[in-house]
Amino acid sequence: MAMGEFELIRRYFQQDGGAFGVVRGVGDDCALLSVPEGQQLAVSMDTLVGGVHFPPNADPELIAERALRVNLSDLAAMGAEPLWFTLGLTLPSADEAWVKSFARGLLRVAADYNIALVGGDTTRGPLAITLQVHGSVAPGRALLRGNASVGDWVFVTGTVGDGAAALAVIKKQLEVGKSAFNYFMNSYYRPEPRIAFGQALQGVANAAIDISDGLVADLGHICEESVLGARIDLGKLPLSEPVRKLVSLDKGVQWALSGGDDYELCFTVPQARIGELERLIEQKRLQATHIGEITRGSGVTCFYKGREVPLKRQGYQHFE
Ligand SMILES: [Mg+2]
Repeated sequence: MAMGEFELIRRYFQQDGGAFGVVRGVGDDCALLSVPEGQQLAVSMDTLVGGVHFPPNADPELIAERALRVNLSDLAAMGAEPLWFTLGLTLPSADEAWVKSFARGLLRVAADYNIALVGGDTTRGPLAITLQVHGSVAPGRALLRGNASVGDWVFVTGTVGDGAAALAVIKKQLEVGKSAFNYFMNSYYRPEPRIAFGQALQGVANAAIDISDGLVADLGHICEESVLGARIDLGKLPLSEPVRKLVSLDKGVQWALSGGDDYELCFTVPQARIGELERLIEQKRLQATHIGEITRGSGVTCFYKGREVPLKRQGYQHFE
């Protein structure tokens, strides 16, 4: 295939309108960007491989949505404001219809979250998408994993377990009706990066992470980095109605604990700032559920009705 075809593809990725701080975007040797004065740059990169991280025959518009939303979730977890991103696209062939649809999904999410595509590269090979996102955050205000303190309350935004449920539905391991199918397709391909929530948590939360690998694994990262432990009450986990209707409570909890792909925020708040957090919740600037506490020790321990529920590695045992 001629490289000219790849050049043609690049046209689909052109955005209209000037984005913040872009002195020069796509079209020169480098993008030239002005970092907002007095701010730090938060940078994160993720690669999604066809057949590994998404079904390769999925609608390219949805693949693009998921790729950018998942990357934006990392900016949310730092409390950062999205600014710019770059794209590395590896395609088996220069399939113009595919690219046109992919670009439509990508640029729609970019517009929704006010992030500008400022550069990238296209090559031929097995389908893979690499995105690097850049955001800004004021010095000392970023939400880090390592700042949790003993006695902090642990919260999660939204609901947990939908990502794993969605994967089971997409893999056709479970059959669902049309409205549940749409709900789970939406949670898998269009997870909502909690950008505004992350920013609202600056100065309130001690530590935060986004849930990509599962609550136990990701809260476990906060514990490791903070050199502390955590306990969670399984009875408090916010499961969605569609998950509750689809499977037993036990299976729903298992998905919430170890399923991953939820892209909600898990964060810790010192008791002295719980009042501030409650005000944010009342003002609807945040939606979150209290699920546990940070403790001395290490690792995540689960309780149900006051009794400890053993967790083996990432796994989970029946709790009733
Ligand atoms: Mg993350």
